[in-house]
Amino acid sequence: MNPTLYIIGGGPGDPELITLKAVKALNKADVILYDALVSEQLLVHAKSDCKLVFVGKRKGKKELSQDEINELTVFYASRVSCVARLKGGDPFVFGRGHEELEYASRRGVTVEVIPGISSVLAAPASASIPLTKRGVNESFWVVTGTLSSGEISNDIALAAESSATVIVLMGISKLKKILSIFVKARSPFEPVAIIEHATLPTQRVISGTVYSMREQIQEDQIKTPAIIVIGKVVDERQPPGPLEGEVVSALTREVI
Ligand code: SAH
Repeated sequence: MNPTLYIIGGGPGDPELITLKAVKALNKADVILYDALVSEQLLVHAKSDCKLVFVGKRKGKKELSQDEINELTVFYASRVSCVARLKGGDPFVFGRGHEELEYASRRGVTVEVIPGISSVLAAPASASIPLTKRGVNESFWVVTGTLSSGEISNDIALAAESSATVIVLMGISKLKKILSIFVKARSPFEPVAIIEHATLPTQRVISGTVYSMREQIQEDQIKTPAIIVIGKVVDERQPPGPLEGEVVSALTREVI
């Protein structure tokens, strides 16, 4: 039988934000290769004799290249019957998960993808920012701040021209540039939030306008990973106060 490789989304950080299907796959795996953005607490789901292989960035150590990770994954797949490749968020959202799928499939490994909760969805939600709200916005646009070349993505300017809510991943090193683009293309008063360490106990939300943020925040004051959300939905973050003397509608009265 072909070895199976599970490419698994480990969720945004909170170890409870992983799917049941992913937990079951981790429980079956003989080898788990995991990234830096993955909560180490997820490894409790591994079998006691499972080999755990860290393939992320670690301070002071040389990072493995994508080619090396691909090779290592297939190396293990040729020796055991079940390998899990555990990645942060969802493996197909700026996660190179599909490159890994292609590499392994071409080498005869059966691949199954298990989606994960992306930080794209989890970060705004955990900051009480709705990605869509009736009457406020009609779409959202997810864009990387930094291309593999290190340059800023041209899509940021296109997104700024639209009326969409814009979610920027990998954007903190380009924060000032990104904010300047929005000050020009939209308005200095366009709301923005930065969500650091979303869903973790260390989560912090900084919000303001694109202009105030550009003037007041230095890029090195932000702790990564962090996501930038730009658009009117950011102002929906503060829930309204409790209603005073709410009148129970006829419908509710009927249901009660
Ligand atoms: N596949 C991942 C994204 C990988 S790209 C996913 O679906 O979530 C890495 C970027 O994701 C980071 O630069 C940051 O912008 C964002 N990110 C990942 N985890 C995050 C978290 N817990 N809080 C805020 N941003 C996060």
